[in-house]
Amino acid sequence: MSSTRPDQANTAWDVVIIGAGPAGAATAITLAKFGQRVLLVEERVTAAFKLGESLPPNAISLVKHFLGDIEGSAHSIPGLFRTAGNISVWATEQPEVTDFFFTLTGFGLNVERLAFDEALRSNAVTAGATLLKGVRFESCARIADSSFNWQLRISSDTQTQQHRARYLVDCSGRRAVVARALGILPVPEHDRLFAYAQWFSCAGDDDDPYTRIEAAPHGWWYSNRLPSEESDEIRRLVVLHSDKDLPVAKMAARQQGFDQLLSESTHIAPLLKSKGYRSCGTIRGAPANSQRLQRFCGDAWMAVGDAAQAYDPLSSQGMDKALKRAVTLGT
Ligand SMILES: Cc1cc2nc3c(=O)[nH]c(=O)nc-3n(C[C@H](O)[C@H](O)[C@H](O)COP(=O)(O)OP(=O)(O)OC[C@H]3O[C@@H](n4cnc5c(N)ncnc54)[C@H](O)[C@@H]3O)c2cc1C
Repeated sequence: MSSTRPDQANTAWDVVIIGAGPAGAATAITLAKFGQRVLLVEERVTAAFKLGESLPPNAISLVKHFLGDIEGSAHSIPGLFRTAGNISVWATEQPEVTDFFFTLTGFGLNVERLAFDEALRSNAVTAGATLLKGVRFESCARIADSSFNWQLRISSDTQTQQHRARYLVDCSGRRAVVARALGILPVPEHDRLFAYAQWFSCAGDDDDPYTRIEAAPHGWWYSNRLPSEESDEIRRLVVLHSDKDLPVAKMAARQQGFDQLLSESTHIAPLLKSKGYRSCGTIRGAPANSQRLQRFCGDAWMAVGDAAQAYDPLSSQGMDKALKRAVTLGT
């Protein structure tokens, strides 16, 4: 646990935020700038990967609000590049282009997600929030205290701490751990969409500025060229979405099945072949279903980001929604 031994002074907070993804870090920045004593709790010390790299044009002003000019040298994020739009093969075989040129910014951004999330966390600390990494939210209980509403228990592999807070914010993503602890569950699922992701690398050139989207018989694909610090390493992410209970999902979870399904795609497989891409690493999975809590807030607590509501990745709105909600806390 990245903290000193707890004492009275560092266990009493105006706001405790659980989860330091984009929603938690941005919420911490907003509240710390308002002079609130903020504790930001994150269970992961480091993450091996994170899906979701496209920032649509309407998110750019929010990104600048929280991170400054991330394209400028002072605040730059490694490998980040401008995107031009989406090319989708959806209802017909004819590719449709959604061009970002016709938006207010004229471009979107592809970010290296681990670096992007880390930059937001770092700005939260600069704004005055206290960040504890490697620490899990365990439970919370209401207390009858004139100053504080909550007593909560957080723990690392080696110790457990009790903290008090006036307000709790659930930013724990789709798991919504605080809301669940309070008995507020997500509404019953409408779909079982799951994402199966495979990384590819090539030694040649790929300056494709578009997100490629393609319908499949039991789901849909997307592929993005990825930001990378290494100039000699070109990487691409290919993701298949399908309902988890379908046989195709079981195929997609295994290399051989994923390769077979990909070979049946009409645009993404030829694109990979033309650039000389080869798969690297293992297939990773992540839930991608639409989800929302029965209630987003209550007495002295609220949920922000995917904890409150998570969308099908086709919307490309996850980060925008998280940042937008965090910025409105300041208005
Ligand atoms: C396949 C796929 C593609 C996507 N593509 C895009 C895209 O192109 N553009 C886009 O904008 N969005 C995309 N998204 C969605 C986007 O990644 C999410 O909407 C975004 O990460 C939500 O941010 P968040 O902070 O709410 O949650 P998260 O990023 O999930 O952060 C939650 C944090 O809470 C922590 N946590 C959980 N439980 C606990 C606990 N008990 N104690 C302490 N910490 C805890 C987790 O470790 C995590 O760091 C995609 C998602 C998927 C699955």
